[in-house]
Amino acid sequence: MNVQVPNLDSPRDFQGNPVTPGLPIAMLAEVTHRCPLSCPYCSNPLELVRGQAELSAAEWADVFRQAAALGVLQVHVSGGEPASRRDLTQIVAAARDAGLYVNLITSGLGLTLARLRELDEAGVDHVQLSLQGVGRDMADRIGGLSGSWDRKMQVARWVGEIGFPLTLNAVVHLQNMESLPEMIDLALDMGARRIEVATVQFHGWADLNRRALMPTREQAVFARKVVNEARERLRGRMVIDYVPADHHAQFPKACMGGWGSTGLNVTPDGTVLPCHAAQTIPQLQFDNVRDRALGDIWTNGTAFNAFRGTAWMPEPCASCDRKTVDFGGCRCQAMAIAGDPAVTDPVCSLSPLNADLHAQLDADAAAAAPDDLTYRRMGKQS
Ligand code: SF4
Ligand code: SF4
Repeated sequence: MNVQVPNLDSPRDFQGNPVTPGLPIAMLAEVTHRCPLSCPYCSNPLELVRGQAELSAAEWADVFRQAAALGVLQVHVSGGEPASRRDLTQIVAAARDAGLYVNLITSGLGLTLARLRELDEAGVDHVQLSLQGVGRDMADRIGGLSGSWDRKMQVARWVGEIGFPLTLNAVVHLQNMESLPEMIDLALDMGARRIEVATVQFHGWADLNRRALMPTREQAVFARKVVNEARERLRGRMVIDYVPADHHAQFPKACMGGWGSTGLNVTPDGTVLPCHAAQTIPQLQFDNVRDRALGDIWTNGTAFNAFRGTAWMPEPCASCDRKTVDFGGCRCQAMAIAGDPAVTDPVCSLSPLNADLHAQLDADAAAAAPDDLTYRRMGKQS
């Protein structure tokens, strides 16, 4: 298939006016791809960056300074598992020195009470703890590591002891959707201020596990109901963020709030992406902070400009009122489903590919294979 991306020198809107990029608010800093867990829903790419290629703490410090100068206010320090970096404290301190609000996204594995205290001292403002499931059996099975649940629960107690503001981050899918009410209760018990419930997104390793993880239509309806009831019940006590299963929705999500509009992602080796899955689009070329200034990449990088504005949009998006609401959906999802990143996201009910997608979903549901999991690992899949 010969698929082109718009590749505009400068992005334009429908009237042909140039679009000036806004300022990024948040940066995802994937400081390593190493991780003791091997979740089959991991959105890290199939080709993981090896430890030797990772940016050093000094290089990260420079990236954080450039990001702050560009307008970034908060950095999400993530991975992989960021605690796999022995110099994590140094990295966090550099982010704080640059004036950024520091959110640490972790599975908890590799953190001790002493390390958490150091990270507190260094400037972590907020902790986001991932949840692979509720209870030993599900959490250890999905995380692919025996004992991970017990260690995570211990880390959660330490996080509370130190007093970090906590968000619990749960990825929900075919195999754990029924325990969503227990996940919400667990977040409350941990004293979390927020729980982020995200339906699995089929990027990276997750895409290898569609048949094992794709939630059913009934589960999507169930999750929506649970979230709405819990929001009502817990108003003022805990915030519930919810990323629904857009495969079963009428319209797609507004991915990244619009391509290249509010956030950017720096991978462990310094590659700068408009979203964490953008490398699944083979037609795009990405710049690296080792070769080019972050601000220049943000403003002029061809990958960032490829889907800015609205002029690139095909029909039915081109004549749709929602084009400035959902921006035509997710480019990586269009690539994954249609093999073309420049078409309307096929999960949209207005997409000409939507009927085929639903036929495929039905076929996948009939052939669901919960035990057929491809776990994420450093070496390429076998
Ligand atoms: S999703 Fe799982 S395997 Fe992937 S980085 Fe997070 S904890 Fe590690
Ligand atoms: S046609 Fe395009 S703009 Fe309209 S709802 Fe669907 S994805 Fe969004």
